[in-house]
Amino acid sequence: MEKLQAVKGMNDILPPDSARWEWLEARVGALMARYGYQNLRTPLVEPTALFVRGLGEVTDIVEKEMYSFVDRMNGDDLSLRPENTAGVVRAVIEHSLLHDGGKRLYYMGPMFRHERPQKGRYRQFHQIGAEALGYPGPDVDAELILMCRALWRELGLVEGRDLRLEVNSLGQLDERRAHRAALVAHFEAHHDLLDDDSRRRLHTNPLRILDSKNPALQPLIEAAPRLLDHLGAESRAHFDGVRAALDAVGLEYRINPRLVRGMDYYNLTVFEWVTERLGAQGTVCGGGRYDPLIEQLGGKPAPAVGWALGVERLLLLLCEAGVAPPATAPRAYAVLASPAALVRALPVVEVLRAAGVSVLMHAAGKDGFGSLKSQFRRADASGAAWALIFGDDELARGEVALKPLRARDGRAAGAQFTRVLADSAEWARELLDDNPPL
Ligand code: ATP
Ligand code: MG
Repeated sequence: MEKLQAVKGMNDILPPDSARWEWLEARVGALMARYGYQNLRTPLVEPTALFVRGLGEVTDIVEKEMYSFVDRMNGDDLSLRPENTAGVVRAVIEHSLLHDGGKRLYYMGPMFRHERPQKGRYRQFHQIGAEALGYPGPDVDAELILMCRALWRELGLVEGRDLRLEVNSLGQLDERRAHRAALVAHFEAHHDLLDDDSRRRLHTNPLRILDSKNPALQPLIEAAPRLLDHLGAESRAHFDGVRAALDAVGLEYRINPRLVRGMDYYNLTVFEWVTERLGAQGTVCGGGRYDPLIEQLGGKPAPAVGWALGVERLLLLLCEAGVAPPATAPRAYAVLASPAALVRALPVVEVLRAAGVSVLMHAAGKDGFGSLKSQFRRADASGAAWALIFGDDELARGEVALKPLRARDGRAAGAQFTRVLADSAEWARELLDDNPPL
């Protein structure tokens, strides 16, 4: 039979690695709550038109990265979501979420882009994103950037060392138009140096040439006219507002006048958190303001700003930076003398679990529970701190033996003692104590 495999560029997330994902997701959920952001979950499949209208036709994503297909049942044009800002905006419009004021939202989940798979770049990957809709001021731009810093710190990353913040302003449409004319003139004057992609974009979306990853183009991009020099008073004031807020909390950043974002819907503030530790896939998180998008997708005009981070890249960075989430071994491993011991052990183990102790039960094989020796080998391999020994002698006395499996603080492991089965609710907490009295 033909061997079935996962689709190229789409990964299984296996234990024990999946524990790192759960650890990260739990931290993100708690952090979002502290900043007042609520969870929103939208479908993985959306009408293709949402992304074409939302992201713009001349973007990498819409031009060449989308998984688009026709629904065989009804002929609908659908796409796997390549990002989630458009989906969030669609949901916000569809359910009139802004009727009573602004909304602060976040999401986590898989996205799909048909790219060349490599380290930090996959076809199914995961994003965590935050969006604040209905708030026009630079205060909320700064809040969103600060949430990122809080997340890095919470995870044990150090800003400045592991991640740096870059910011820019894209101004408003009319300001970009004036800049665009200057930009086209600059690139036309060096037409022979452009690559095919850039030549094509020269007259459709020249700003995106600044986003090119082609190293040969970098000197030309460096010398291009700066959008920041074309900003009007209002845009400049907004940018200054963001900077003042970042300065107030001592968050360091670099103004990168070449920073543009891949999507057409951005205006004013744009930012990226970048790292030197991941090679070419150095952008961990990107975001900015996208005031035109809600109206562009058919909603009542309302401002919006947000960011998305790549979970795989963040986890890779955590590895590179030597951050290891706490190990996830069970607290205790239950060793059973015989099948008859099981019915005595189960009620006790259930009480312990209800009290917050994680207990791995030794599972029977075809020939029963096996020797105590082999069960202890399993207990050791599980990484558990304790073995709970439901032996015949102990059970006959209405007791269970508790054996510490690992040495701590210079004390030897192994001095076992007994506890009364019927009192398990009382001694459960002893199993959670890292330094039990001897
Ligand atoms: P890049 O320039 O690396 O292609 P992008 O500008 O396309 O990134 P965004 O659309 O802004 O990325 O998505 C936000 C974040 O999602 C990125 O900064 C990155 O961390 C992550 N990301 C984007 N595409 C992928 C992918 N194919 N695989 C893994 N992570 C990705
Ligand atoms: Mg990309």
